[in-house]
Amino acid sequence: MPVLDPRTLIAMAGVMSLLMALVLGLMRRSYPSSIRGLGMWALAPLLWVISTVLFSARGAIPDLLGIVAANSLLLMGAMCQLAGTRRFLGHPVAWGRWAVLLAIAVATMTVLTIPYPHYPLRVGVFTVVVACVYGSLLVFLLRRGDQSFPIRLVEAVLVLHMLVLAGRLYTLSTGQGGTDLMDRNPIQTLYVSAYVLTTLMLPLGNILMATDRLRAELEHLATHDPLLPVLNRRAFLQACERELSRAKRNGLAPALILIDLDHFKAVNDTHGHQHGDAVLRHVVARLQTVLRSTDVLARYGGEEFALLLPETALADAQTLSQRLHTSLAQGHPLDCHVSMGATAWRGGADGLDAMLSRADAALYRAKAAGRNQTCTD
Ligand code: GH3
Ligand code: MG
Ligand code: MG
Repeated sequence: MPVLDPRTLIAMAGVMSLLMALVLGLMRRSYPSSIRGLGMWALAPLLWVISTVLFSARGAIPDLLGIVAANSLLLMGAMCQLAGTRRFLGHPVAWGRWAVLLAIAVATMTVLTIPYPHYPLRVGVFTVVVACVYGSLLVFLLRRGDQSFPIRLVEAVLVLHMLVLAGRLYTLSTGQGGTDLMDRNPIQTLYVSAYVLTTLMLPLGNILMATDRLRAELEHLATHDPLLPVLNRRAFLQACERELSRAKRNGLAPALILIDLDHFKAVNDTHGHQHGDAVLRHVVARLQTVLRSTDVLARYGGEEFALLLPETALADAQTLSQRLHTSLAQGHPLDCHVSMGATAWRGGADGLDAMLSRADAALYRAKAAGRNQTCTD
């Protein structure tokens, strides 16, 4: 195995960390504030850059800087990784606990560097503390069970790093750990390479996680209504087209219902627009208590909703509509009546436009017949 110079590897890690810190810092400035943790994620590689500079200057600067401060910054970077990831995933950070661990680690490393220099013991302490931080991050991520690629990548990097740390502890315990970080032996090269890989891959994982979140947020904005927790018209029509293609393959017909609030203009005129918005939210919440998880509710227009019921016959859609009427007549101050027009796919050449026209015509008849009822077509 070719033995690389640890100094070269560490310098490479520094350059990569600097680039990662820059990218994450810029992302923090430009990404929406709803994506949290980016500041901590940017701080981690920044601390690693400073640590790298100090490591590289070992021998030329006091050991307190070249060894203790360099290792402490490395450790703090790992803690920032943990804090950033917890923040990103909406979890609090137990700063107190980590500050105590950091203080103990710094004090121990200082003692084992200046008054009682002991390389294997110092490295052992540092390795155990880093393993605590990355182990905590790994357990946190594994417990969440997220299947997304960026999180899987971070988990894989952490597992690899933990294995290398375990290997390092083993070699230290058997006296093969060397006498200095800059030793040119295979074990040190492996350890320093793992460190370089981690400082590159963890921020890369962070960038992928944040980009993935941004994509999900933009997708949500493009497909959901801004006021109500339902799909918008565009996403609804796409869902309908998908369902009709499925129906053409398996013959299981979906039903479609258009829902329009009765005399909603009067609600706004009497109680104001804010109250009108609250009524809309209340109606959606009530409708959702009746719907199955496969049903698709969307805002079709101002105070008009559309409902797609996969694999549902017209008679069943009508029964469901009665349950919706009942659910909206509970006597709550925000209760509001609705009229509905229902139809079902008729097979063959029947398409979405025809279904929407039939549902609209049925809705018109429900309004004409006195509102607060469902008509079918
Ligand atoms: P009908 O029973 O015939 O359906 O009568 P309507 O008053 O419900 O129908 P119309 O179409 O005349 O009025 C719809 C009203 O819905 C008018 C519009 O201001 C209101 N509206 C549309 N979108 C919103 C919204 O997001 N918030 C609020 N508060 N009102 C809205
Ligand atoms: Mg209306
Ligand atoms: Mg209307």
